[in-house]
Amino acid sequence: MSLLSDLAFEARNTARSVADYVTGTGLRLGVTGLSRAGKTVFITALVQALTTRGARLPVFAAAAEGRISRGILQPQPDDGVPRFAVEDHLVALTVERRWPESTRRISEIRITIDFDRKAGWRTGPTSLTLDIVDYPGEWLLDLPLLGKSYAQWSAETLDASAAAARAPLAADWRGHTAMLDAAAPASEEEARRCAELFTRYLRASRGDRYALSTLPPGRFLMPGDLEGTPMLTFAPLPGSGPAKPGSLAAMMERRYESYKALVVKPFFRDHFARLDRQIVLVDALSALNSGPAAVRDLQNALSDVLQAYRAGRSNLLSTLFRPRIDRILFAATKADHLHHTSHDRLEAILRLLVARAIAKAEDVGAGIDVIAMAAVRATREASVKQGRDALDAIVGTPLPGEVIDGETFDGLAEAAVFPGELPRDPKLALRGDGLALAEGDNDYRFVRFRPPLPETGPQGGPVLPHIRLDRALQFLIGDRLA
Ligand code: GDP
Repeated sequence: MSLLSDLAFEARNTARSVADYVTGTGLRLGVTGLSRAGKTVFITALVQALTTRGARLPVFAAAAEGRISRGILQPQPDDGVPRFAVEDHLVALTVERRWPESTRRISEIRITIDFDRKAGWRTGPTSLTLDIVDYPGEWLLDLPLLGKSYAQWSAETLDASAAAARAPLAADWRGHTAMLDAAAPASEEEARRCAELFTRYLRASRGDRYALSTLPPGRFLMPGDLEGTPMLTFAPLPGSGPAKPGSLAAMMERRYESYKALVVKPFFRDHFARLDRQIVLVDALSALNSGPAAVRDLQNALSDVLQAYRAGRSNLLSTLFRPRIDRILFAATKADHLHHTSHDRLEAILRLLVARAIAKAEDVGAGIDVIAMAAVRATREASVKQGRDALDAIVGTPLPGEVIDGETFDGLAEAAVFPGELPRDPKLALRGDGLALAEGDNDYRFVRFRPPLPETGPQGGPVLPHIRLDRALQFLIGDRLA
């Protein structure tokens, strides 16, 4: 597509959704976060809360004031985008009591919410059409590629892989690349081998043991439907200057440019630029558990994400797309792994991380808030006597195979766990003091619980317990239901 038709296309798209937005009938909410941050669980819980009577949402004003008459699922409006499989995920959570399958590609779901406006100059029944768009956070990190040539990207990526933390993980790929002649004739087999070793290195950096920040191209980690296509079959090569026609370097360069034109641009133009609100889910607890390097990395990832929101406002990319997101909520997920006395502390830590990221991203141009929550609360709290002391504990059903103190759980028995306590001063957490543990309990932080037994709502449907999901809803859509 030429730039001109690109823009005409964008203008049409934007005009349509801006019209919806201005008349107050439509809102597009983006849900993102890196792999395993909790996107699927969050959207499933949110849809359930909005479409079920009896959900407990005291801070979500429209629901608390009894002004929502119903929320119903609608057919997915964008023919080219898969529908978020909410029914399957709900069966997994509430009937089978297992966590649903995680996000691997973009998907969308539409709900209309019929509600009464609050008494005032605009009263009476009306409705809001809410489109929820789920997409991997890895894809956001591709934005800087649009401004980089293949040679620039190659040089930067090779440089980064030489850093102490990454070099051992990148050794196989770097060793292979060092022996290559970039000017040799193009070979599909060679391109595949390079892409495979390069992808393996990117994956290893993101693995549980290292948890380094994600490097683009985002689709190498989250390919969506593109797995195995030539667009994902390239890798950086050393060398500067124009590639010799017909060479391996020329083939790689062409594929890199195709990736930008056919994957990255359309995503930002057709999906990202149309969002009105955004929630970024962050598994801050895992980062805190992994130590100071992972926390620093998380902070960098957050500022990379913020750059994407800022991009269209102030630089060349604004000719491609102009994000119009006016609210961004950063949410630390899985807060049910902590006692409630630590929820505010988790929030304070994320607030500090985001503040530092904002300082790097300059003017983001959107209202930003921060929350600690559990979209689905898998634990309840209890007080456990130990000698003369009563200790705060959380109780849940560990996943089958989880081991606590040498005991292997079967997925049926419950366990009481003493959760780590976060420091009162968030700066301490970022300095690496992380979770202060109850003495001798260091295994317990990593226990994974099964989803809870759902309660039965007033109309017989399941109601899932949560922590502060209502606060998230109030920030993200509350003003549009006033
Ligand atoms: P996605 O990759 O961002 O879609 O992540 P998911 O929503 O699939 O979540 C990944 C995993 O995190 C799940 O399988 C659960 O084990 C865990 N998880 C997500 N949300 C919660 C939550 O609210 N509470 C608890 N206890 N675990 C959660």
